[in-house]
Amino acid sequence: MMERRIFGVETEFGIRYIPRGLGPLAPEEAARKLFKPVVDSWRSTNIFLPNGGRLYLDVGSHPEYATAETATLRDLLAHDKAGEYLFNDLVNQAQDNLEAEGFDGRIFLFKNNVDSAGNSFGSHENYMLERKVEFSRLVRSLIPFLITRQIMVGAGKTHPSGPPEWSGRPLGPQNEPSFSFSQRADHIWEGSSTATTRARPLINTRDEPHADASLYRRLHVINGDSNMSQATTMLKVGATDLVLRMLEDYYPLADFEIRDAATALRVISHDLTGSARFSLADGSERSAVEMQRHYHAAACQYVEAKGPHHEDVPYILDLWDRALTAIETGDSSGIDTEIDWAIKKKLLDAYISRGASGYDDPKIQQLDLAYHDIDPDRGIYNVLNRKGLIKTVISESEIDRAAIEPPATRARIRGSFISAARAAGEPFTVDWVHLKLNSRPQLSVMCKDPFAVENAEVASLIEELQQKKSTVWAPPFI
Ligand code: ATP
Ligand code: MG
Ligand code: MG
Repeated sequence: MMERRIFGVETEFGIRYIPRGLGPLAPEEAARKLFKPVVDSWRSTNIFLPNGGRLYLDVGSHPEYATAETATLRDLLAHDKAGEYLFNDLVNQAQDNLEAEGFDGRIFLFKNNVDSAGNSFGSHENYMLERKVEFSRLVRSLIPFLITRQIMVGAGKTHPSGPPEWSGRPLGPQNEPSFSFSQRADHIWEGSSTATTRARPLINTRDEPHADASLYRRLHVINGDSNMSQATTMLKVGATDLVLRMLEDYYPLADFEIRDAATALRVISHDLTGSARFSLADGSERSAVEMQRHYHAAACQYVEAKGPHHEDVPYILDLWDRALTAIETGDSSGIDTEIDWAIKKKLLDAYISRGASGYDDPKIQQLDLAYHDIDPDRGIYNVLNRKGLIKTVISESEIDRAAIEPPATRARIRGSFISAARAAGEPFTVDWVHLKLNSRPQLSVMCKDPFAVENAEVASLIEELQQKKSTVWAPPFI
């Protein structure tokens, strides 16, 4: 079992330009405007940052931030939020540029998983595993957990014309506006495969460990919702890590193999009682709450026997329990400052009780989206946070620091190399594992250990760079 684990989160953001007087901008165009300062400064739309993370724009229009590899959940939370802060800086710069060009609209970035046209985009969680653990067994046992965990960690979503149809089966009353746990569940098609877009699976099995491939694998989970709430991210990654530990340790867990992953995901997402039943491969039926109760009880016993492996384990187990109790009792007051779907639902239900017509009301639709707006003043999650209606885990100063400082992993080697090379005006090339100065292509350094925080070869390169007086002005960050 991995005593310490490497984690990373990738977030694709939705982008929208809303014009005032002048005409519209397609999302692709808005994304290009967003990346202009990056391209001006770095000559690329695909860069690694001094904090060790990666910022990029693939073809299409979903700007992406990948956190640096972190070795603690708190670092992961800080680096995940730092991605929002960094993109908000870029939005502000793009906004100024747009004004100078005569555009009078505004750019919005959303940390959610569906756009207005119904397309879905992702949030990827990365968990490092030991190569010697039998991967197919682990994946098979983890999938039922991943399918059912959405009842605790979904970001919540309204459906103005009720749940979508699925295989001719009604997922709820038709044409009745509704609310679901998850944004992503309606867009996942199968258990595990190497594809990320076509037959979108829960786990992408492409074998790219970003580490010594003889020792490690990277588990690439792609079915989760992006979370605004730190507590929800903590529970999502922390509970998954606990289940992984039990599987790595051969701790006995029930065999819950689900017959039809895509159907179960949708049935669970659209049933706020958590009690809807679906078929397992052995012909029996279960509900999401029953299964999560099993995983939770097992995790409690496991931690009781082995002791907590980090400081937040008791909080994770407690929040997990409270989330399940909220669903069992239909009373989410015990989690509505911590769990995204419950925070959002509380807000929307308050508007409905004050006169909004229901989940199809345009005001409700707008709030559902605005919850995910990353703007610190305008975004509804951020407004609620400022009003003291959200429980956070880490401090603002930890997030500010994470925007510029790498975590104590291999990211520190990469981040200090990038900072030194930029300060010296020296072109460089890096990826998760490799580093080199373009002027010294034969001296490519490989860092295959993601836990390493220093590297002698890189340290001497940095020393050389520091002696070189900068000839090109490089801004400190973007
Ligand atoms: P795609 O964007 O197509 O899904 P990808 O997942 O390979 O590709 P990135 O977007 O670059 O690529 O993100 C890689 C993620 O993996 C980052 O969040 C990073 O922190 C994380 N990571 C890096 N090294 C490791 C490792 N050894 N184990 C687990 N995660 C890692
Ligand atoms: Mg990615
Ligand atoms: Mg990925």
